[in-house]
Amino acid sequence: MILQLKNGVDTQHAAKIADAYDAIIIHNDAQTLLVTPSAIRSVKAEHESMLEQYWVFDSDIQLSSRKFRAQTREVKIGGITLGGESRQCAVIIGPCGVESEALLEESAGLIRELGLKTLRAGAFKPRTSPYTFRGMGVDGLKLLAKMRDKYGFAIVTEVRDSTQADDVIAYADVVQIGAKAMYDHGILGKCGKARKPILLKRGFGSTLQEFVQAAEFILSGGNEQVMLCERGIRTFESKSRFTLDLCGVAYLKEHTNLPIILDPSHAMGYAYGVPDLARACLAMDVEGLLIEVHPNPAKAKSDASQQLTHDEFRKLFASLKPLAAAINRQLV
Ligand code: PEP
Ligand code: MN
Repeated sequence: MILQLKNGVDTQHAAKIADAYDAIIIHNDAQTLLVTPSAIRSVKAEHESMLEQYWVFDSDIQLSSRKFRAQTREVKIGGITLGGESRQCAVIIGPCGVESEALLEESAGLIRELGLKTLRAGAFKPRTSPYTFRGMGVDGLKLLAKMRDKYGFAIVTEVRDSTQADDVIAYADVVQIGAKAMYDHGILGKCGKARKPILLKRGFGSTLQEFVQAAEFILSGGNEQVMLCERGIRTFESKSRFTLDLCGVAYLKEHTNLPIILDPSHAMGYAYGVPDLARACLAMDVEGLLIEVHPNPAKAKSDASQQLTHDEFRKLFASLKPLAAAINRQLV
């Protein structure tokens, strides 16, 4: 249950009520919310007079449920608004990793040329082999910050583990939690306390329930700005790197109030499939797309096979425009 306390209820009483239900206390927008385990489904008579209203749920998808808030939550990234009344769709591009300042300058050139507003690249790369490029670390964050200062982009970059979470949160405009980190409670805890938008990727072996419950850790920490990113799950299929779960996206849109960003690049794993998939993703009527681009993908230090060249992306972007117009979305 989510219990919204009446404004006059003081913190001592709030703590007592929370105790009675094993609830987490959240103070938001001058409101106090108590979130209980969803298995608790009724309010004790002695507490009724202290409640403004309350909501009952059939699972621990609570703060992110449309039953609690029917409208998609608003997330502000620089001058962009996703969710709420907005029809903006963020096209978030950049190379997989920060490799050099020169690379980021090339990416910045493309972003400026197309009138986009965000630059995404990882300074801390989670990898499946210890012998591959793991990112430039804090030096990479500094290069990203330089691009923001120079061109006004919002920076999207990922936190690999909780040891550098504070640095990433300090430098980023949007903190990405990668698929492999979806369950990292150190990261989830720090992102819950942060006041920056969080882009939470779905673990490739995670059910939708587990995915959304990971978002609940951030929301219940008090951070209201969480976006969900579907980036493909592991199935029996091996011809593509992962399988993009668009049925899951339909579920998330119907049942959760979180903006959705779709990542066809990591799902497909091969550049040839990314443009068609990106168009399919936009047709799902979501708040954003995340696409990896690199001026010379063959030379990329991570995810080389899936990154689009700048020319390939220009072509894709031109083809997204009429699709966006057809569904009344504004690409930003
Ligand atoms: C990435 O976004 O570059 C990345 C590592 O993705 P994922 O966490 O989805 O594998
Ligand atoms: Mn990548």
